[in-house]
Amino acid sequence: MPKGKNDKAEKDIQVYCNKNGIGASRVAWSAHMITVSGGAGAPAITPALTAKWNAMLAKHNVAQATALAPHNCAEAHMWMALQLQDIAPKNCDMWVYRIDNRNRIHRDAPCPNCQQWVLKEFRSQNGVKKAKTV
Ligand SMILES: [Zn+2]
Repeated sequence: MPKGKNDKAEKDIQVYCNKNGIGASRVAWSAHMITVSGGAGAPAITPALTAKWNAMLAKHNVAQATALAPHNCAEAHMWMALQLQDIAPKNCDMWVYRIDNRNRIHRDAPCPNCQQWVLKEFRSQNGVKKAKTV
């Protein structure tokens, strides 16, 4: 992953967080979109999208591994947002960040929920290419 892409993501996220008053949360960046963790960050959920999401979790045997349900993660919201725009996650790079309580951006890894599926659905994760054998 070229360094420039990460710089662009961080700049986009900083602007987005400042504009929307978002701090101390987790943020995903992919396909020039930004999503945030937590219930308020969810895209417009439809029954069809819920069915797709549940099928994806079942396909990868994803089990809830944190206090936060898998569908509330920033990465989950990104997967859903891409589905709503008919963009295939497999063609997209997923970048994950943690925003600390002083609004600083830190490149991060997906949480234990998302580690079970992000690399299987997205082309790469924070610059790590999907393993061909997965
Ligand atoms: Zn997660």
